[in-house]
Amino acid sequence: MNNLNIDQQNLDAILAEVKKQGIDYLNHIHERSTASSGEVQIIGDLNEQGTGAIEALKQFNQRFEPIMVASSGPRYWGFVTGGTTPAAIAGDWLATIYDQNTQSAKGGGDISATIELETIQLLLSLFNLPKDFFGGFVTGATLSNFTCLAVGRQWIGKQLGKDFAREGVSGNVKVLSATPHSSAIKSLSMLGLGSGNFIQVNVMQGNREALDVADLELKIKALNGEPFILISSAGTVNTVDFDDFEAINALKEKYNFWWHIDAAFGGFAACSPKYDHLVKGWGNADSITVDCHKWLNVPYESAVFFVKEKHQLLQVETFQNSNAAYLGNPMDNFSYLNFLPENSRRLRALPAWFTLTSYGKQGYQEIVERNVDMALQFAGFISENPNFELLAPVRLNTVCFSLTDESLVPSFLTKLNATGKVFMTPTFYNGKKGIRAAFVNWRTKNEDIELATVAMKEILTEL
Ligand SMILES: *Cc1c(COP(=O)(O)O)cnc(C)c1O
Repeated sequence: MNNLNIDQQNLDAILAEVKKQGIDYLNHIHERSTASSGEVQIIGDLNEQGTGAIEALKQFNQRFEPIMVASSGPRYWGFVTGGTTPAAIAGDWLATIYDQNTQSAKGGGDISATIELETIQLLLSLFNLPKDFFGGFVTGATLSNFTCLAVGRQWIGKQLGKDFAREGVSGNVKVLSATPHSSAIKSLSMLGLGSGNFIQVNVMQGNREALDVADLELKIKALNGEPFILISSAGTVNTVDFDDFEAINALKEKYNFWWHIDAAFGGFAACSPKYDHLVKGWGNADSITVDCHKWLNVPYESAVFFVKEKHQLLQVETFQNSNAAYLGNPMDNFSYLNFLPENSRRLRALPAWFTLTSYGKQGYQEIVERNVDMALQFAGFISENPNFELLAPVRLNTVCFSLTDESLVPSFLTKLNATGKVFMTPTFYNGKKGIRAAFVNWRTKNEDIELATVAMKEILTEL
C-alpha cells in the first residue's frame, strides 16, 4: 500500500494530531517568541516513497515549527499584522476541506460564490456603506488596489473614447495622490500606468499626511478637464491619517475623476461611533480597498474590493476571461472570474463569513475600540518617558515614535525585537528615523502593553 492510501485510512489520526497541535499553539501563543532565532537548511531532493502525513508532521515539527514566530499573537505590532479569531480559523479549515473553486453563483453546480456575495453584503453592513457596491475577495490590499485601479483605468479610457482593456493603454493617464501606499504605486506599474507618472498632491500643514484639498483643486484645474484617478487614503501607514472625504465629495460634484480610497485597515474606523467620523462621506467613492487579514482578523490571504455597481460593465471589460465582447447584463451568468484577476480561487470568503456571523457588529466595535485604547495607552507611555518622543499624534490604532536621541533608533529596535517579547518595525517619518507599533490584533490587552514597556525600559539601560 502506498502512503497516500495509508493516509486515506488514517485521516482521523492525522487531523486529530493537527487539531491537538493547533490548540496547543493557539493557547500558548502569548508565550511564544515574536522573533525567529534559528535557521533552516533547505533540502533539495524529494524522497522516492514519501513519508506519509504523520512523518511529514514530525519533520515539520523538528525543522520549522520551533522557528515559527507568534506573528498572530498579541505583541506582534510590526507592519499592520492581524491575528485570527476562533471562528475565522474554523471557516478557514472548512474552506480547505470543502475546497470549492469559487467562481459562479448560479449554474455549474457551485454555489460557493453565493457565500462570497453574501459576505460582501455583511461587510458593507459592518462598515455602514451603501449597498450599491459590488465586491469580491482577493489575496490582499495590494491586489485589491490593483483591481480597483484597473477598473479606474478602463473608466479613464472610456472618457477618452478608448477601450484600454482591448487596445492597450495609450496616452499619459493622470493619477493624483498625497500619501499613497507603496502597493498602490506598485499597482500603477503593474497596470502600465507608470509608477513615476503620478502627480504629488501636497499634504496639509501641521504634521499631517492627509491631502491638502486646496492644492488638490489647483492640480485638478491644471489638468484642464482631463479625466484622472484620485487615490485617497483612509489610514496612512505611518500616522493613520485620513483624507477629507466630504471635501472630496464636493470636488466630485465639480470635476470628472475616478475616486479610489485605500482603506486597507483605516476603514474599520467605521465600526465604532467614536471613530466613524474619520470615514464620513466615503460611501460615494468609485472604489474602496479593505484588507481582511489585518483588522478583520482572518488568516492570510484575504482582502476585498468594493466597486460601484454602475461601473460593473467597465469591470467586466477589464477582467473578462474570454475575448468575446461581453453581451448583456454581466450579472446574468455571473462568474467572479470575469470581475477580478484570478480564475481559479479558493472559498476565501468563508473565514470572513464565519467571523462576521460569529461576532457581529458589536464584536468588531469592541475589537476596534480596544485596539485604539491600547494604542493610546502605549502612546501615553511614550510621551511620559523622556527617552522617547511621539512623531505624530495617535489618530487611531498606530503609534509612530522615535528616541529623543534619534541615532539610537536602529540599535534600540534591534535589541528590542531580539527579546522576542514584542515586535515593531522601523520607519522614516518627517525626516526622522522612527518606530511603528500597530494594534490590530483582537488578543492584545493591557498586560501586553505592560510587558512590552517593561522590556523597552530594560533596553534603554543597555544602550
Ligand atoms: C497593508 C496595506 C496595503 C497592502 O496590503 P497587503 O494586504 O499587504 O497586500 C495597502 N494599503 C494600505 C493602507 C495598507 O495598510
